[in-house]
Amino acid sequence: MSINNNFTKTVMSVGEMASGAKLTVPVYSFKAEQSEGPSVYIQANMHGAEVQGNAVIFQLLELLKRCDINSNITLVPYANPVACNHKNGEYTLGRFDPITGVNWNRMYHFDQGVIEPFAQENIDESDEAIEAKFKQLMLDEIEQKLDHNIYGLTTGQRIAYQLQRLAHQADLVLDLHTGPISSKHLYCPEYAQASASYFDIPHTILIPNIFDGAMDEATFCPWWQLQQAYQNLGRPFTMGQGLFNKESFTVELGSQEQIDLDVAHQDALGILSYLKYKGVVADTEFTPQQMTRYACYLKDYKALYSPMGGMIDFLAPFGEPLTAGQPLARILRMDNYGDGDPLHYISLDDDVIPILHFASASVNQGTELYKVFTNYFKL
Ligand SMILES: [Zn+2]
Repeated sequence: MSINNNFTKTVMSVGEMASGAKLTVPVYSFKAEQSEGPSVYIQANMHGAEVQGNAVIFQLLELLKRCDINSNITLVPYANPVACNHKNGEYTLGRFDPITGVNWNRMYHFDQGVIEPFAQENIDESDEAIEAKFKQLMLDEIEQKLDHNIYGLTTGQRIAYQLQRLAHQADLVLDLHTGPISSKHLYCPEYAQASASYFDIPHTILIPNIFDGAMDEATFCPWWQLQQAYQNLGRPFTMGQGLFNKESFTVELGSQEQIDLDVAHQDALGILSYLKYKGVVADTEFTPQQMTRYACYLKDYKALYSPMGGMIDFLAPFGEPLTAGQPLARILRMDNYGDGDPLHYISLDDDVIPILHFASASVNQGTELYKVFTNYFKL
């Protein structure tokens, strides 16, 4: 098979199992003749059951080998080999490290303490020097964690930091996930709202400058906080422009445990539409689809927890506004049949857009039933 665009494949070692078996991750790269646009890093399957991103990377590889690219693009499917292989019965688990219980996507590194001193020391540097030195600082922080840490790392940190080393070399980062049973939605930093309309994704959650350990935040928070530190020192920059042309997104591609190569092709075209907008690919054929795109702020993205145990009939379709008082779901309680109420309807007092729901029909009291947009608006 001949692939254009200086395609290379390498295998990155990210850990070892008890038997000594190596944990490896494939890394695919396209190198531009002249790197003029922002560079790109895309990974998939950090959570075990969220497999559709691997199919999207397949379709991206197929499309990119024929594209006219302006910058380097790195793609990593099967980003977390432990989670990817974490089966129980017929289901894939792999949202949490089975030993520590920590969410695999909360283990990335960012030390906010480096921002202020860096901005002060480099207040008079050129834009080019600031960008190069800060990129290097982020990489040095990761190297320090990986190679100079006598107390070692958890399994998840070792995987996450090696992925982060690739992500920190790029300007634009996409972390491909899925919900449980879910519509497509996008986590987008607030400053990058304009970019959300280039993905073929109808729902966007706008997130603030708060680091909680996820890949997208670990990529944009350092730059956003640096921009704010410079602002405080009287040297204003605009996020998304110049040396701060840095964006990262968590792309939720639909439901877990599913591969659909045709849908993956559509998803890949949506990603290429965004990359075209950012000047990464020159091909003019990639344009965003016409659709109504809704957004809400992260504080308005609400989880609804089940008021009771039972068997759930999920009623509300995804992505369509549901007026206050309309039923989201009904709960079947066969233990109440004959001497009580076997059906319990659930509704909300707000207008909402249902985005995802729990993957199983049987829930305990307090299980997260739905996640919904409130106070939503059109993009
Ligand atoms: Zn996920």
